[in-house]
Amino acid sequence: MANFDRRTLLTLLGSSGAALTAPLPFKAFAWDRPPPYNVEPNPKFSTTPFTLGVASGEPLSDGFVLWTRLAPEPLDPHGGMPRRQMLVDWEVAADDGFKTIVQSGKFMAMPELAHAVHVEVSGLASNRPYWYRFMVGGERSPVGRSRTLPALGAPLDRVRFVAAGCQYYELGYFTAWRRIAEEPIDFVFHYGDYIYEGAGAKFATGDNFGKNPPPLRFHVGNELYSIDDYRARYGQYKTDPDLQAAHAACPWFVSFDDHEIDNNWAANIDENEMPQEIFATRKAMALQAYYENMPLRRSSMPVNGHIQMFRSAQYGDLLNAFFLDTRQYRSNQAYFDLASPQGPEVFAANRSMLGDRQEAWLFEGLSKSPSRWNLIAQQVLLMNLLRTGPEGGERLTGMDTWSGYMHSRRRLLDHIDKHRPGNVVTVSGDAHLHFAGDLIQDNGDGRVISAEFSATSVTSGADGTGDENPRVRSAMVGNAELKAITDKRGYLLCDINRNVWQADLKILDKVTQANGNLSTYASFHVEHGRPGIKRI
Ligand code: FE
Ligand code: CA
Repeated sequence: MANFDRRTLLTLLGSSGAALTAPLPFKAFAWDRPPPYNVEPNPKFSTTPFTLGVASGEPLSDGFVLWTRLAPEPLDPHGGMPRRQMLVDWEVAADDGFKTIVQSGKFMAMPELAHAVHVEVSGLASNRPYWYRFMVGGERSPVGRSRTLPALGAPLDRVRFVAAGCQYYELGYFTAWRRIAEEPIDFVFHYGDYIYEGAGAKFATGDNFGKNPPPLRFHVGNELYSIDDYRARYGQYKTDPDLQAAHAACPWFVSFDDHEIDNNWAANIDENEMPQEIFATRKAMALQAYYENMPLRRSSMPVNGHIQMFRSAQYGDLLNAFFLDTRQYRSNQAYFDLASPQGPEVFAANRSMLGDRQEAWLFEGLSKSPSRWNLIAQQVLLMNLLRTGPEGGERLTGMDTWSGYMHSRRRLLDHIDKHRPGNVVTVSGDAHLHFAGDLIQDNGDGRVISAEFSATSVTSGADGTGDENPRVRSAMVGNAELKAITDKRGYLLCDINRNVWQADLKILDKVTQANGNLSTYASFHVEHGRPGIKRI
């Protein structure tokens, strides 16, 4: 059996080069003791352990995170793995045939983390593609392709990305991910709802019984409560070949929304307002499973039930991307989270969407941003859309979006208006419809401050009814911000150059059949220096 010193062990755990001297953000290991003794010396598999594919994420100008998770039986507890540590070899090459391997190493996959592999590669050249793969026990993973960022502040003419999320497994095929894998993009932003926590339709009772439309393929298991439940659900979703293709195609910046844990949770409060210490246990398990299954840096490993997710990335001098966390720090939804008129609670100054620390970070980052464009990539709709309820009367809005946190919304729009007029674009999701619109302060002056594109779902909502959906029709009435909305599945494609930010709302005719047809529902331009969107 191998004998590891501290330096070797740190390397095996995924830190490389410069990270060696930095303190680790968690204390899972006692370094003054002998290294782990339970390493499997001779891994053997009867089927491939790479059933969940490969992924990369969190690119920097000299590296990125490489991810896989060993799981020969992805639906079983521990993924069918022995309860031992296992050494996994990894390679990064300059070409897709692995003729020139530029870095390689070993990573220790551990049962505590469901045999997840998170290799933080550094020391690579900027602004170029690399290819990577993993090997263990004579088995070899599929090849993934990643990409480093341009050097900090380097001149850059173009960046392209996709925003997508809301991938309810039972309601459709992940054709959108297959098409995204074919897009010539620099990165994917996943806005959340990577999994859904509900019981499979076969197990469902109450509200979920006899879902409409009927499921196409079934969640395994009941509502998720334990870490094994969450792990198995990721295992099921991640076996999807279309999703795997998109992960293998380019680096991702992931974020979670609500369904990675529980519908419409807020900080320590779940949908049913269980005692907070009870929800905290569930949240901690869900967040650990999220970390295990995503290409995240060690700095995002959950500690005491908290996960650090807000961060930024710079694409040369062209784009500064701010990825937000609108779940962990928000105040509880107002008015019992029911569609409600915007009463005083919605405007209360002591309620926040981002929390003080994240808001200060974002505001400072935006004020000081040297980039030509700034992206606010987050989870829930920033447009303040009101609609008339079925019985008429006062106009209502959802309490889970920024419309339920108007004090935070006012502060954000004021900040953009003051510091970065005409070069901030917000991208969001969650609503299972495409939305494109201007952002206007709610003071009645009607002045356009910024722009938002909210990406529709990958499958949630099944095929959709296009422009015939009653929600679509009611949203188009009396909402000056909204320029386009449609109820189809797909993704948002952004193509940014120095003067124009183009957004294409991509839609699929069907997700309930394999290989649905992709088209562009509408395209918009945001011109640099000119707030608001223009249909082209
Ligand atoms: Fe969703
Ligand atoms: Ca959601």
